[in-house]
Amino acid sequence: MSTRPLLMIPGPIEIEAGVQVAMARGSLSHLDPEFMQAFSRVLTRSRDVFGAPTGQPFVIAGSGTLAMEMAAANLVERGDAALVIDTGFFGDRMARILERHGATVTRVGGVLGAASSIDEVSAALASSGATIVTITHVDTSTGVLAPVREYAALARERGALVIVDGVCSVGGEDLRMDEWGVDLALTASQKALGAPPGLAVLVAGPRAMEKWRARKTPVGAFYVDFGEWLPVMEAYEHGRVAYFGTPPVQLIAALDASLASLVAEGMDTRCDRHRRIAHAFRSAWTALELQMLPINESVTAHTLSAVYYPQGVDAALVARVREHGVVIAGGLHPAARTKYFRVGHMGSTGLPEILTTVGAVERALAASGWSAAMSGRGVAAAEKAW
Ligand SMILES: *Cc1c(COP(=O)(O)O)cnc(C)c1O
Repeated sequence: MSTRPLLMIPGPIEIEAGVQVAMARGSLSHLDPEFMQAFSRVLTRSRDVFGAPTGQPFVIAGSGTLAMEMAAANLVERGDAALVIDTGFFGDRMARILERHGATVTRVGGVLGAASSIDEVSAALASSGATIVTITHVDTSTGVLAPVREYAALARERGALVIVDGVCSVGGEDLRMDEWGVDLALTASQKALGAPPGLAVLVAGPRAMEKWRARKTPVGAFYVDFGEWLPVMEAYEHGRVAYFGTPPVQLIAALDASLASLVAEGMDTRCDRHRRIAHAFRSAWTALELQMLPINESVTAHTLSAVYYPQGVDAALVARVREHGVVIAGGLHPAARTKYFRVGHMGSTGLPEILTTVGAVERALAASGWSAAMSGRGVAAAEKAW
């Protein structure tokens, strides 16, 4: 067995060999033409990946949380009413960030494993008078997939700006910013984009840029101000260089390699593959008589599984699975942290990773005394579904 276990958590994820090689190259100057070309490709391809031909991409050093903060810092002014559609831990984080930047936040949802109905969102929009709506596309704490397209249409009807936290979805779930009326979407490099952690990736559509341009007060934080980064992004994309803060040259090279791989696969094919992966995992969980956190299939993410421990099994399972060579994650949502585990299945995952992971979970469950896991039916079900 290899010395490094297979990493199947919802980020960071396993990275392809080509991405590792790109990352391991010697330093280039951030003013070098070769780096300029790599950065240019990253920016151009981000539009494809986000389905945002009219969007303005920003790629800066930081994690997904920085991308969330960048969205709030640029789009919120004190007293703006914001509606957070809460499907888990990361909705709560978004609410706190928006509040920090001066928004008056109303929340809708928050029922574990569920996504608010269209009627609930519609009513909350009306009563809150929100001019900004935030949606977590896939909440990584619950494995809930939100109906972004439907929510965005409602928000747009009322003229509200739509922000999507796509940290656990972009590159794995279908997202079409322009077509669906999403004004800003953001992610980080280490999840479905398949690069190492360290880059915040954000695409702002025309209405978001307009809202930022029309601000009456300056952006409250220097490092995330669109105004500082816009000339840099525009320069690199169009074959020039510019400086605001030193870009992480190796990480940009790694993201360049992973986005090349995404674009080569094609976003539709890639999203289909993620649906197939999720289906194979779901079939295994069902065969093992396990229950998933999302309350039904229509709100179940394709980039990760959140699964309750069965009767008699507890969070010690995660360490047991590790002994079988696979790293999975425990629970994250405060209301059920010790009651479930999570398996990330994004990026270049295919049948070998699915079978290895299901096999490891199955053996660990069997060792914990769960009788449904004693006949190998989880692996068989996953293979059959694939
Ligand atoms: C991981 C994640 C974040 C936070 O990203 P970091 O890179 O850990 O800061 C935000 N939102 C969602 C949906 C996530 O999955």
